[in-house]
Amino acid sequence: MPAQSPPKLRVGIIGAGPAGLAAAIEFAKLPFVETRIYEQARELREMGAGISLHHNTWRMLDRDLFRPVDGHLVQHRNGRTGELLLSTGQEDTPARYHQARTLRTVLQKALLRSVDRSRLRLSSRLIAIVETSTGALRLRFEDGHEDEVDLLVGADGIRSTVRKFAYPDYRLTYTGTTAYRALADASDILSIPGFPDANTFWHGPQNRLYTCNLRNNVYEIAARVRLTEDAAPVSWGQEASVEDFGARFKNFAPMLQRAIAKIKVVKTYALFNGPRLPRVVSHGSVALIGDASHPLAGEFGTGAGCAFEDAYVLTRAIRWAHDRGYHIRNGLDLFDQVRTPHYHAMYDILDGFARSSESRKKITSFDDTANQIMEDEWNNEISWLIVEDVWHQAWRAEDARRSVLDGDNDGEKVTRAESTSHL
Ligand SMILES: Cc1cc2nc3c(=O)[nH]c(=O)nc-3n(C[C@H](O)[C@H](O)[C@H](O)COP(=O)(O)OP(=O)(O)OC[C@H]3O[C@@H](n4cnc5c(N)ncnc54)[C@H](O)[C@@H]3O)c2cc1C
Repeated sequence: MPAQSPPKLRVGIIGAGPAGLAAAIEFAKLPFVETRIYEQARELREMGAGISLHHNTWRMLDRDLFRPVDGHLVQHRNGRTGELLLSTGQEDTPARYHQARTLRTVLQKALLRSVDRSRLRLSSRLIAIVETSTGALRLRFEDGHEDEVDLLVGADGIRSTVRKFAYPDYRLTYTGTTAYRALADASDILSIPGFPDANTFWHGPQNRLYTCNLRNNVYEIAARVRLTEDAAPVSWGQEASVEDFGARFKNFAPMLQRAIAKIKVVKTYALFNGPRLPRVVSHGSVALIGDASHPLAGEFGTGAGCAFEDAYVLTRAIRWAHDRGYHIRNGLDLFDQVRTPHYHAMYDILDGFARSSESRKKITSFDDTANQIMEDEWNNEISWLIVEDVWHQAWRAEDARRSVLDGDNDGEKVTRAESTSHL
């Protein structure tokens, strides 16, 4: 009788946002894995606003879309006078990884092209997770569907159900800021005399505007507005009025008032976040990726890139454990060693921003505040780690540590030599 092949590792991915789709693409490359993706939505739809693809996102996505024509990364302007305060270049970044901005739907479609749709189950809202006596996880969905998996990947966003299972006491809170996301016809905006066709932040003492051409005659006008808890809309993606939006920017330049008046559609999103998680894994069988792993409110504008990096490191860490005959728990620990310090470093940066925002309250003039924001938040570029390098250092260090502990077990050495080239 032919020898039976070992059972595949059953991986359940919850959520088909950037994190879940990236994980599905990467897990599909592992021959020892059987993946299924569960998404609560009836159809895959992203909110129709923009998303920035920074150099780290490109490193992961490696696709060609579009970028600012003059190659700038982002421009910063005084919201009242329109004065250009800073225009950062990206000379140190290879041209193919220059930042781009696109409609979220474009990114989603690009990812979906590489996903095996037969593995994706829509209208599947995860409502319960139970650990079985064998360590597997039983999943129950709202429509009655059930499944059992060996590895559960929580890619279910900031309000993650998987995170509730891993960290039942974890709580999100309103940040005091609501995002406005609006779209206008690019032809209307670019006909305003002097309006820059650029990727631009417009700074003011309280609120910040962001404008960017998304091409195909779509121009994005987004904002972060301080709103007290009682004034903030509770639900996500609520229609708002152009007048309400404009009222928040009365002290901004006339050219921006004109741009706001051209808006066709505007929605608001109350922004929530939560404290840093101690670990991005739990139970020896659960991994949190994307927003589920670092519940922030788009502060760095690089959430999709972080989600891709999580998917990259997680799949390689699972392969690392599999190739050496270790339990997946060890792969999850290695994933955690790489990602948790990264997210803690992001939270440290945000703590610094909160301190400088507090000290700016003493400044009374619009222009002085805008200049101080430049000084506090934009002068020293945050140097992002290159995740591929961090990952390679981490698994080599873990191999070295284990070979000392094991006294270099012979059988393991063979597997290790065979497998290193794939990592
Ligand atoms: C105002 C704002 C601006 C931002 N700007 C940028 C930017 O410019 N660039 C950038 O890279 N990032 C940006 N981000 C962050 C980015 O949107 C997120 O980091 C990114 O969407 C996270 O992807 P994700 O897959 O982890 O989560 P999500 O995109 O939230 O996807 C989670 C998915 O899980 C599904 N789901 C949730 N619960 C369940 C359940 N129980 N069962 C089944 N399915 C479930 C949801 O329906 C959803 O499809 C911004 C965020 C905000 C709020």
